[in-house]
Amino acid sequence: MDNELQPHYALLLGGGSPWIVKTVELKMDAKQVHIELAWQWDAAHKCPVCGRACSIYDTAAPRSWRHLDTMQFETQVSARVPRANCPEHGPKTCHVPWAARHGRFTPWFERLAVDVLPASASVHQACALLRIGWATAHDSMRRAEARGLGRREPEGLRFFGLDEKSFGRGHSYVSVLPTPCRRENGQRLT
Ligand SMILES: [Zn+2]
Repeated sequence: MDNELQPHYALLLGGGSPWIVKTVELKMDAKQVHIELAWQWDAAHKCPVCGRACSIYDTAAPRSWRHLDTMQFETQVSARVPRANCPEHGPKTCHVPWAARHGRFTPWFERLAVDVLPASASVHQACALLRIGWATAHDSMRRAEARGLGRREPEGLRFFGLDEKSFGRGHSYVSVLPTPCRRENGQRLT
């Protein structure tokens, strides 16, 4: 490593083998830190679909993910992710530990966004705090909702109520589906 920041960021990211911090670039004018990660080519690789050990076909186009800020500097993690050469499924991009499959953020930043959004007075305020756009904020909320619904266990739900309420002025209505909850010893659990 020829940059003393690289081991520093490798420790902070906690990724470890088979990924190494290749470069760390400070962009003072843009107030950004760019961290480039590199795959160690002698590492074993598995098809993300079937888990079979495979050789590397090539690397996907470079991508970057927004990470938690370094001090007041926006921090971006970038990498060229290898693709497994699976004899059954063809070239498949491997999963990386710092991002959801099609996400533009690391899980740490996404977690921050999910916490900041409901704690803010408005989505506009949360966007200003996180320095993200309106559409990006709604994408984060949609993914968080999908994760929450994915964790929810539907067993025990036999009936549900659906109501229609007037909304605003005129003949505008919304359909309301109350969130099912579980109770134990009289205590609401969810
Ligand atoms: Zn496969």
